[in-house]
Amino acid sequence: MTFESLGLHTSVIKALTEAGYTKPTGVQEQAVPAAIEGRDLLVSSQTGSGKTAAFMLPALHKFASEQQAAPAAGKTPNQEMQASRSRGERPRFKPAQPKMLVLTPTRELALQVTTATDKYGAHMKRVKAISILGGMPYPKQMQLLAKNPEILVATPGRLIDHMESGKIDFSQLQILVLDEADRMLDMGFIDDIEKIVDATPESRQTMLFSATLDGVVGNMAKRITKNPMIIQIAGSATKHENIQQKVHFVDDLSHKNRLLDHLLRDVTMDQAVVFTATKRDADTIADRLNIAGFAAAALHGDMHQGARNRTLDSLRRGQVRVLVATDVAARGIDVPAITHVFNYDLPKFPEDYVHRIGRTGRAGRNGVAVSLVNHAEGVNVKRIERFTKQLIPVDVVEGFEPKRSASAPRSNHKPGGWKPGDNRGGAKPGGRTFSKPGAAPRKEGGGYKGNRSNDSGARRSFGDR
Ligand code: AMP
Repeated sequence: MTFESLGLHTSVIKALTEAGYTKPTGVQEQAVPAAIEGRDLLVSSQTGSGKTAAFMLPALHKFASEQQAAPAAGKTPNQEMQASRSRGERPRFKPAQPKMLVLTPTRELALQVTTATDKYGAHMKRVKAISILGGMPYPKQMQLLAKNPEILVATPGRLIDHMESGKIDFSQLQILVLDEADRMLDMGFIDDIEKIVDATPESRQTMLFSATLDGVVGNMAKRITKNPMIIQIAGSATKHENIQQKVHFVDDLSHKNRLLDHLLRDVTMDQAVVFTATKRDADTIADRLNIAGFAAAALHGDMHQGARNRTLDSLRRGQVRVLVATDVAARGIDVPAITHVFNYDLPKFPEDYVHRIGRTGRAGRNGVAVSLVNHAEGVNVKRIERFTKQLIPVDVVEGFEPKRSASAPRSNHKPGGWKPGDNRGGAKPGGRTFSKPGAAPRKEGGGYKGNRSNDSGARRSFGDR
């Protein structure tokens, strides 16, 4: 299938060709034609599947076709304000009237969607997309809103602030997208989302993207969509077949730190994300890795937006090789050179495991996802396996074997045959390792005494206002 056969506007196809996209991904093949027809969509697909283009391409197609039929007339709110100033009148702020709203759980994802929109809309005459995010100065956002952008990409909290102060009017809204809806609900945004949805016209087209369409997400989806087309993408991106997953058991923090240092020296590693449970640990571990000679940087919700953007830019440019991050801050990071993901701490929720490992193996590449796990955490690994319906093999690096072996051998591991209660595998000496042949195991001692605070508030602290 080609992008032409999806019926997209020529200006959009031109931008896709320049972006190096040769054919649509699975989710795009299904979503784009239905969305062009104006259908509501409920799409279950993971990040990395090309879902941003799946909702943005049909929207841009619609706006390009409208522009062609009736070129824009009238003044933008900015121009109106200037005109009233020149008439000697006191300028009044006219609310922005966007045609499309994309809600995302995090600032990073919002920025990424905005960047992708600029790329896909590069050849359209006038389509402006802006991000409305917590952490950004209000005057700057007012300036952006005064340009009356067609597309708003926003996190819910800050958007509500602007709605309540009369800066945004949704009466002209045609398309509403909820990106990573499951995550927004996880983060407690349900009331905000309902308020925003209520402020939009009934006639809108609604597209909801989520890792799962069950439970609370499913209920909300029923309320806000009309006769939706349901698209479930169960491709390799969902199963993460291109990502080699493994678990390493560790005895204690010192063992964990030494093993992490060793694994980060793997020659096949280009860039890595190390996930920690707390913001403080992200800082401490990034500092420690820098001292150990890795170009590392922390990313978490306590950092100012400017610092976060700079860190992400450095990651994209390859100046940062190891990003040490908390879950929420790292969500949506799309850097194809990330070859490895390390779970320094296991995530609290199994869904987060899937989002974490999805930072690698992007855009059709392969990746490696390693979880460093205390013996007592075996039960959490099982929860993840139950969620992903995949077993995660246990691996051991020569010279870094845990003193305690990891429970019973995994005798009932049948291909494709996961069932609840499967045993955790025993650590096989001589199992696959990252070690280069002849690489000397590092000496005991000098272990990092990280500060294991209980400050695991990354999730809520992202409060985005
Ligand atoms: P997403 O799932 O939207 O986060 O997209 C994941 C990655 O796939 C991004 O780097 C996109 O630029 C890339 N991508 C999206 N659609 C295509 C396509 N049709 N061909 C090649 N790459 C794509």
